[in-house]
Amino acid sequence: MIETLRVEPGKKAEIAHRDPADTLGTDGKDAGKKRLETLHEQLGLLHDRLYAEGRHSVLLVLQGLDASGKDGVIRSVLTGLNPQGCRVVSFKAPSSTELAHDYLWRVQAVLPARGEIVIFNRSHYEDVVAVRMLELAPEQVWKRRPDHIREWERMLSDEETTIVKVFLNVSEDEQRRRLQERVDDPEKRWKFRKDDLKVRQRFDEYVGAWEDVINATSSEWAPWYVVPADHNWVKALGVAELLVDALERVDPKLPDPEPGVEGLEIT
Ligand code: AMP
Ligand code: MG
Repeated sequence: MIETLRVEPGKKAEIAHRDPADTLGTDGKDAGKKRLETLHEQLGLLHDRLYAEGRHSVLLVLQGLDASGKDGVIRSVLTGLNPQGCRVVSFKAPSSTELAHDYLWRVQAVLPARGEIVIFNRSHYEDVVAVRMLELAPEQVWKRRPDHIREWERMLSDEETTIVKVFLNVSEDEQRRRLQERVDDPEKRWKFRKDDLKVRQRFDEYVGAWEDVINATSSEWAPWYVVPADHNWVKALGVAELLVDALERVDPKLPDPEPGVEGLEIT
């Protein structure tokens, strides 16, 4: 299943040909939710070991258009994790201090420490896509960034950071429904920005810009995955599968106990 989500390095993501309403071969929502519970248990165990070992770190990058459900995925994944060893970082438009530095400066500062899992809600990829679409810098500036990012991520991977990059693939129609819900529901209204509609009007263009950067930066050391996002339970399941798979590949080991601890009786 993970293989079908993966954007093979050197191949095209073909986002437009992927079904946002796909259910990942599960036997419906109930079966999917059962599987999710199991995955959360596995996540908890693996995360405890990662934290105890303190050697490797994990970075989950979450991208997706407005209302693709990044916040919901974060909430779901976190139920499986130990709050002590994890952090969520949300990236907004850069501040003036951040703009006074190179674009990776603010990102570098919040990377996971050894033993930690960090989830990026948006990321350095906005420095390619948002900058391109909103014309915040000339083309020559954002065009060279995917090359920097590939090499920077290679360095992170060499230094024991496992990187999992996810694009939540929501359909135009489901996005409309969710944005409408934000307008209609007083509890959700704060999330709605009228500017989101300007972005929505360029839905295909945005997907195209994501496709370009995903194609350019899906690498062996930091692959992209396109996760169907029209069903909330499916996107939660897809991301949990990816994280468990990543942690299993890290295969963190508990540190050896002090000599003489085994069999000790506490009086
Ligand atoms: P939200 O995730 O809804 O709170 O929105 C955050 C906003 O910040 C989005 O409109 C992003 O496109 C924008 N943003 C995040 N990172 C950057 C960046 N590096 N450059 C420009 N805009 C950004
Ligand atoms: Mg928003």
